[in-house]
Amino acid sequence: MNPAPTAPLIAPGATIGILGSGQLGRMLAMAAGRLGLNTHIYAPDAGPAFDVAAQHTLASYEDEAALAAFAESVAVVTYEFENVPAQTAAVLEAHRPVLPPPQALAATQDRLVEKQFLNGIGVATAPFLAVDDAPGLARAVAQLGLPAILKTRRFGYDGKGQVMIREGADLAEIFASIGAQPAILEGVVPFAREVSVVAARARDGSFTAFDVCENEHESHILSLTRVPARIAHETSAAAVAMTQKIMDALGYVGVICVEMFVVEGAAGVASSGETLVVNEIAPRVHNSGHWTTDGAVTSQFEQHVRAICGWPLGSTRRHGEIEMRNLIGEDANRWRDILGESGASLHLYGKHEARPGRKMGHVTRIVGG
Ligand code: AMP
Repeated sequence: MNPAPTAPLIAPGATIGILGSGQLGRMLAMAAGRLGLNTHIYAPDAGPAFDVAAQHTLASYEDEAALAAFAESVAVVTYEFENVPAQTAAVLEAHRPVLPPPQALAATQDRLVEKQFLNGIGVATAPFLAVDDAPGLARAVAQLGLPAILKTRRFGYDGKGQVMIREGADLAEIFASIGAQPAILEGVVPFAREVSVVAARARDGSFTAFDVCENEHESHILSLTRVPARIAHETSAAAVAMTQKIMDALGYVGVICVEMFVVEGAAGVASSGETLVVNEIAPRVHNSGHWTTDGAVTSQFEQHVRAICGWPLGSTRRHGEIEMRNLIGEDANRWRDILGESGASLHLYGKHEARPGRKMGHVTRIVGG
């Protein structure tokens, strides 16, 4: 499905189309701008990406005439979120290459399909069972045991659409609380750390990964990314190899993020005593890769642009030991103090209202050589 043989050469001066107007689209547009490319953002809501792009279209993802006109105005279409409807991608693909390829969306939009795909290529996940109704939840609980986590199959992020189930819980009430929709029940992974691999695959199949990131969450939202992750060298190498396997299986082009749990005390990765279990795949640039803008030779955003344009991938060399902290809600009010701190790189997303839990910006610090 790679468009490589027939795709026209994309050169500086061309326009990239981006679905979604959030901060990821904004940072992609800024990286594209640095390389002499223009961007056209398509979204149903005005967001911070509109402010940095030369063109935008405000229309729904179901508006086929607007989608066709958008696709005709760009050289290639990409996206900043994984819930692009299949029909939207199909309409766009009739006009221009859509990268990462739509099969990456199909494999990652639904947690059940995603886990089946991963297990099918030999990648470990948490144990899981499909749950379609309240009696199905009772059967799954009987099989998997408790505690376990019920997650909606679609549209869950930052902990939304998921509930931890403990002994004695009212299962019918819990199934109703997630909207009585198709779900999966997952066993709880006793992880020591959460890590992610942000990597890129080019149209010619070449691959590069940034160093493995270690992530800490607060209230289910990423709060801190540390690089390098404090895991054994062999575990990092295994995480990167697993990511490459996933990308190859998807015929992927662009940047991906694979989130993983590291379990200690098992014999998964030879000699390190650490085992990797994949939690989920984001077929896009990712919050845990934001440090690359200040902490690596090439940012994840530039890398994505390079990959979808058919350009050579850049160096992922890191400038030191890095910490990236998200500025959530009111945290962003500290912008003046952060500006005064030497060695801190501040990023603000230009969102007008600082609601609790809203990602307003981030700060990257190079903390060691
Ligand atoms: P998710 O929305 O699947 O990324 O889950 C959000 C967070 O919930 C993860 O980053 C973990 O901290 C936690 N979590 C999700 N699934 C599991 C699991 N099967 N076992 C343990 N913790 C989990």
